[in-house]
Amino acid sequence: MTHTALKIYNTLSRQTETFKPIHAPFVGMYVCGPTVYSNAHLGNARTFISFDVMFRYLTHLGYKVRYVRNITDAGHLESDADEGEDKVSKKARLEQLEPMEIVQRYTYDFHEVMRLFNTLPPSIEPTATAHIIEQIEMTKKILANGYAYESNGSVYFDVEKFAKEFSYTALSNRNLEELLNNTRELDGQEEKKGRLDFALWIKAKPEHIMRWPSPWGEGFPGWHLECSAMSSKYLGEEFDIHGGGMDLVPTHHTNEIAQNIACHHKSPARVWIHTNMLTVNGQKMSKSLGNSFLPNELFSGNHKLLDKGYSPMTVRFFMLQAHYRSTLDFSNEALQAAEKGFARLMNAMKLIPDLKVSKQSTVNCAELGKNMYEAMNDDFNTPIALAHLFEAVRMINSINDGKESITAADKEELSKLMNEMVFGVLGLAEEKAVNNDKIDGLMQLIFDMRSAAKANKDFKTSDHIRDELKRAGFEIKDGKDGASYTITN
Ligand SMILES: [Zn+2]
Repeated sequence: MTHTALKIYNTLSRQTETFKPIHAPFVGMYVCGPTVYSNAHLGNARTFISFDVMFRYLTHLGYKVRYVRNITDAGHLESDADEGEDKVSKKARLEQLEPMEIVQRYTYDFHEVMRLFNTLPPSIEPTATAHIIEQIEMTKKILANGYAYESNGSVYFDVEKFAKEFSYTALSNRNLEELLNNTRELDGQEEKKGRLDFALWIKAKPEHIMRWPSPWGEGFPGWHLECSAMSSKYLGEEFDIHGGGMDLVPTHHTNEIAQNIACHHKSPARVWIHTNMLTVNGQKMSKSLGNSFLPNELFSGNHKLLDKGYSPMTVRFFMLQAHYRSTLDFSNEALQAAEKGFARLMNAMKLIPDLKVSKQSTVNCAELGKNMYEAMNDDFNTPIALAHLFEAVRMINSINDGKESITAADKEELSKLMNEMVFGVLGLAEEKAVNNDKIDGLMQLIFDMRSAAKANKDFKTSDHIRDELKRAGFEIKDGKDGASYTITN
C-alpha cells in the first residue's frame, strides 16, 4: 500500500532516482561489512542500522531482497595505500593469538551488538578468507584482460591504463589529474608503476601469518578485491544496490568498480548508497580526540562524556531521527530527549488495542499512512516518518482522552500501519524493564522506608524519596493498597 514510487539518492549519478530493480521483484543489495579486528564501533553500527531499515522497507514493499554483508577477516591493511600490516594479522601478533581467534572474537562481538540493536541478519554473510579462490580467479581475469601487472610476487591494478578507457573517478567525482598530483610517492612502493595503482594480490613477507598459495607465490588478497569477488558471486555481475559508509567512496568503492569493470566489463551496482559520519557534541567522533565510545559504553553509560546509559532501542530511535545522509551528533541532551520520545511512542503503541471505537472518526488515518509512505519513499527519510509517527501518537492520546474519536475500521487501519512502521520497517522493539522482579523488591524496600518516615511525621524525608525517585524516572502513586510505581522514562 504505497502511494508514490521509492526514490533513492545515488552517489554515482549524484541524483535522487526512482528505484527500478534489474529483475523485480528480486533486489540484490551488497553492503561492506566490518573488519573484525576490534570491537564494533558506533559509526559502523549507524551504517548497518541504516541499511537494516532499507532492507526492512524494501522487503515491506514486497521485494525479495538478497542482502549480502561481508566480514573482512583478511587483506585489510592499516593504510588504504597498501601500506602497513594486515589489521587482523597485527592484532593477532600483538595479542599472541591465532588470526582466526581474533576474527572469531570480534565477529561474535559484532553480531551481539547487531542483535542488541535489533537489526535483521543479512541473507548471506560471506568472509574474505572463505573466498580466496574466487579472488585469485578474479585477479587472473583482470591480468588476462590487461588491467593489472605482476611485480615481485604481488599483482597491482593499473589505474592509468584503466582510466584511458573508463572513468576511474566516476563515483568519487574527483579530478584524476589532481588525484595523481596529490598522491605522494610512497616509500617501498617502487613495485608499483603508477601512484594510484593498488594491490589485487600481495606477496606475504616471511613473518606474515595469513598466507595462501597462488600463481604468483604465497600471499594474500588486497582488501578491495574481496567485495568485488563476493558481490559478483552472490548477486551477479550487475546488481541493484551497493552500500557502505561514505568514507569508502574515494578508495574502496572506487577500486571495487574498477576491478569489476576490468574483470566483467560491467559496473557492478546501479545504485550506490552511502551513510554519513557521527559527531559528538559537534566534533568528529575519533579515537584520537578521546570522544569515541563503543556501543557497550553507550548502553552502560561507562564513559566520561556520558551522563548515564542509554538502551539499545533509545539509541536506534535516536539514530533514526537523523537522515542517513546527514551527520548525526551525539550529546546527552539529544539522547535524553530521544529516550523520552521513544517512551512516548511505546506508550501510545500500548494504548492502541484498548482505544474505544465510535460511529464517527474525527481523525484522518488514510492521510497519516500516505504521509509516512511518502517520507520513506523519499530516500528513506526516517526523521520525517518519525515526525508523522508523533502526529499519530498525539492522535492516539487524544482518542484515549476522549477528545477525538475513531471508527472500528479506522482503528484497525491505524493499528496495522503503526505496527508495520514502528516494529516492522523502523525495527524498533519494546524493551522490557530489565530484572523487573529485582526492581520490584528494591522499590518495596524504598516504599517501606518512606512509610516509616511518614509514620514518624518526617515528611522532609518522605518527600525527598518521592522527588528523587521521580528524578530517576519512577513515578510514585499512593493508593489505598499502598504505593505503586510506573517507569516514566
Ligand atoms: Zn567492501
